[in-house]
Amino acid sequence: MENVKRYNKLNEYLKNKFGERTLKICIDGGFTCPNRDGTVGNSGCIFCSERGSGDHICKQNDISKQVKKYFLSYKSERANKFIVYFQNFTNTYDSVSNLKEKYDAALIDNRIVGLEIATRPDCINEDICKLLASYTDKYYVCVELGLQTSNEKTAKFINRGYENAVFTAAVQMLKLYGIDVVAHIMIGLPDETMDDLANTIDFVNKHSIDGIKIHNVYVVKNTVLADLYYKGFYSPMGVDEYLEYLVYAITHLRPDIVIHRISGDAPKDLLIAPEWNVHKKWVLNGLDKFLNEKNLSQGIYYSNL
Ligand code: SF4
Repeated sequence: MENVKRYNKLNEYLKNKFGERTLKICIDGGFTCPNRDGTVGNSGCIFCSERGSGDHICKQNDISKQVKKYFLSYKSERANKFIVYFQNFTNTYDSVSNLKEKYDAALIDNRIVGLEIATRPDCINEDICKLLASYTDKYYVCVELGLQTSNEKTAKFINRGYENAVFTAAVQMLKLYGIDVVAHIMIGLPDETMDDLANTIDFVNKHSIDGIKIHNVYVVKNTVLADLYYKGFYSPMGVDEYLEYLVYAITHLRPDIVIHRISGDAPKDLLIAPEWNVHKKWVLNGLDKFLNEKNLSQGIYYSNL
């Protein structure tokens, strides 16, 4: 029973695609975010850390140096193929020429087979899609779009700064240019219930996305969410409740979607709550146990009606 494939795991997907283990090199491309610099908003999404995610990446402005440093580290010895992943802030928020310069600065080693870009859907346009598509001859190209929730009320509360229709338009445009799309959603957003998760899963299922990242909400230092937490207006989910929501998400998710992650990964020194967030294995093992015991798998309750 334990060897039954319960869901589409990213490492297996990459192994099939590239014929061997393929790892990600996380890059801080030195970008900012329109939800931070005043273009869309000033304070950012309420959960966003000071470095716009990717807090574990060493501060280093030179992109090529970051890649070279990675290849000198012991981590690079664990595989022969790699995907450069532009993680911090909004990695399509610049002129096309600057974007090209930054992406090219990372694609400097023959072992690199892919380019993955995390961004906001309101920072996708035709020129950016053309630029990204220009890499598809040589590289696997994938764009990760933050959605978090399909509940527009929650989206306003978390200060996401765009409506669901913007996400839909970005997915359509990227797919038109043959670029893989990964949706990023969060479980445990303020005041959200299982119904909200059901709606979000239903919403992503209706989009031609290729992958999904599922992230529990955690509270990190110097965020609006931290203020809410300290004032008693927000408390994160316990691990058991999170697992229950996660199982719902996976069993209702379209069966072809690749699951890139199933929990958040806050740096220990910034994490305020929940404490269980540092035990990634609790979620990984807890999920496997739950799915095996109940004989459940990805998409078992998916319906396209
Ligand atoms: S869009 Fe991303 S980088 Fe910008 S504020 Fe929100 S979470 Fe942070």
